[in-house]
Amino acid sequence: MTRKKVLTTCIYCGCGCQFYLDVEKNKIKGVFPSQNHPVSQSALCVKGWNAGEFVNHPDRLTDPLIKENGMFRKASWDEALNLVVKKLIETRDKYGNDSVAFFGSAKCTNEENYLIMKLARAVFKTNNIDHCARLCHASTVAGLALSFGSGAMTNSISCFDEAELYLITGSNTTEQHPLIGSRMIKNLREKKADCVVIDPRKIKLTKFAKYHLKQNCGTDVAWMNGLMHVIIKEGLENKDFIRDHTENYEELKKTIEKYTPEYVEKITSIPAQQLKEVALLYAAKKSMIIYSMGITQHTTGVDNVRSCANLAMLTGNIGKVGTGVNPLRGQNNVQGSCDVGALPNVYCGYQAVTNEAIREKFEKAWKVKGLPANIGLTVTTVPDAILQDKVKALYVMGENPMVSDPNTSHLEKALLKCPFLVVQDIFLTETAQYANVVFPGTSFAEKDGTFTSTERRVERIRKAVEPIGNAKPDWKILCEIADHCGYKFDYASPKEVMDEMAQMAPIYGGITYDRKEMEKGFGLQWPCPTKDHPGTTFLHKDGNFTRGKGLFFGIEYKPPAETGLDNKDYPLTLTTGRSYFHWHTRTLTGRTSTLEREVPENYIEINPEDAKKYKVRKGSMIKVSSLRGSIEARALVSDIVKPGTVFMPFHFAISAANRLTNDALDPIAKIPEYKVCAVKIGEDK
Ligand code: SF4
Repeated sequence: MTRKKVLTTCIYCGCGCQFYLDVEKNKIKGVFPSQNHPVSQSALCVKGWNAGEFVNHPDRLTDPLIKENGMFRKASWDEALNLVVKKLIETRDKYGNDSVAFFGSAKCTNEENYLIMKLARAVFKTNNIDHCARLCHASTVAGLALSFGSGAMTNSISCFDEAELYLITGSNTTEQHPLIGSRMIKNLREKKADCVVIDPRKIKLTKFAKYHLKQNCGTDVAWMNGLMHVIIKEGLENKDFIRDHTENYEELKKTIEKYTPEYVEKITSIPAQQLKEVALLYAAKKSMIIYSMGITQHTTGVDNVRSCANLAMLTGNIGKVGTGVNPLRGQNNVQGSCDVGALPNVYCGYQAVTNEAIREKFEKAWKVKGLPANIGLTVTTVPDAILQDKVKALYVMGENPMVSDPNTSHLEKALLKCPFLVVQDIFLTETAQYANVVFPGTSFAEKDGTFTSTERRVERIRKAVEPIGNAKPDWKILCEIADHCGYKFDYASPKEVMDEMAQMAPIYGGITYDRKEMEKGFGLQWPCPTKDHPGTTFLHKDGNFTRGKGLFFGIEYKPPAETGLDNKDYPLTLTTGRSYFHWHTRTLTGRTSTLEREVPENYIEINPEDAKKYKVRKGSMIKVSSLRGSIEARALVSDIVKPGTVFMPFHFAISAANRLTNDALDPIAKIPEYKVCAVKIGEDK
């Protein structure tokens, strides 16, 4: 077989870089960046360069597995499919449609997520379909939809070259979205932009920042209200924009009256004078707000996101290049999984399941009757539903909640109790070990499909090598399950699934695989409603919001839900995040030698002042406990974190930060409060 190069999209972060897989004899020999791609621009980060290594890892699942007497044995596809379908149907028929739940996956393609949501809705008549966007940006989807009418990054990565100021909060951009981070550093070095970092932790971009404001964890609404208080007091609000393009301004103005910089300092620890200076800087410039999970993973996640939207609208920093509210989505296809409806409240294209006309449209297209009108369970509410005997069967495609979910011990109880658990993945993950049946799926290199990046760019992935062993592409497994249920998923390839999605979701209406081979390999940014539409670089152009007028909300600061904060026995606040060398739950990066050797184990960052106070030696293993559990982790003594705050990456199954974190939820988005966890260090008294 000759050597070939196959253009595809990176499996890791939401930047959506494209590269070529260099393939010989059905093996990936290397990875080369696309020269002309608008994001990659001839570069990749360390994860991208090594994205081919895990594909041939010896741990790959090659056959279906069925658990008997606590042990897995290999099974044929027929046996495993028959068992799964029999159990799912039996459960549905005995306990009702909502006794079955499905998790899609931000690692899988748009087409696969569309199919699993269609399987849940059309075949099992349940809206119990969700995926891990619930754990990262559910508050973005809900919050920006409320404020603007569209829950996605408003601008594009190219817009970073046009901004005069980056206001970065809760995003360690260089580690989590490396190619966006390096673009920002280039612009900062060349003095094309200024930057302000608002984060309890030092990040690489802090070096270039005019200001680094270190807020107390969980006080974001307060400092954003403080910025807006100063802007209005100084008469720097954009009066024309507010009058012509927004509503409910008076409510915002009234709410933020009391958020003087001095009042905000008491809540946030941000010095009043610095807050004032940052407010003036933000209002004076063409400014972009850039945020990630530091803003979203709170019980006030939706409030935090709507506060970002308030700030942008107040100054008219929206609907133009170089401005906007820019949530950086973490995983390769977390944007797309939301777009195609792997959510409990919407079909593809964010069409509400509660809307009768929309349900009729899908019933007609899918040739079914009785699509459910109730909003389904989320990834974060399924565990309690299992423990309360409401959910009796769970189907997990490509997710690893045993590492990614908060308060893991609680989830573990639920998985142990769940009468029937199916996991479809490429490795026997920590979650798969609890399964009754495991289906071997395929990696990004072994199938066709599309991912949608953080900037709404829908891009192709292309099959470069044959699947390992008897593994099958995830879309094919879903088709076979539907077929075994007696509902024909009649797709010859993912292309046909995309054609159906384009028909059903207006924002994807003009996107097809054929369209000049997806616009010469660069993809298309939604909304792209028709075949001749060029795609959309930035949303809400000239203040024409998706919902009509932008909606201000008057939002009061509410303290975090974490009860441990009031408990003197838990004096430190743990916040969690990512490492440059790892991704999500390490199922892939933990099987990539170059990445694994850089950061082989978990650690806890602790400020030297706290290290002295609690007698922690650099490099020692220390016990870390919260109200929910205890772990041991290696101490990394550093002033990266401020005194009183400690930090851990969440990627690791051993020393798992999520054994400690809080599963209290935002009331609207149902996202957990990962970012504020009261802990103590050292041995129990
Ligand atoms: Fe992949 Fe993100 Fe790195 Fe680009 S920046 S190569 S998309 S991990």
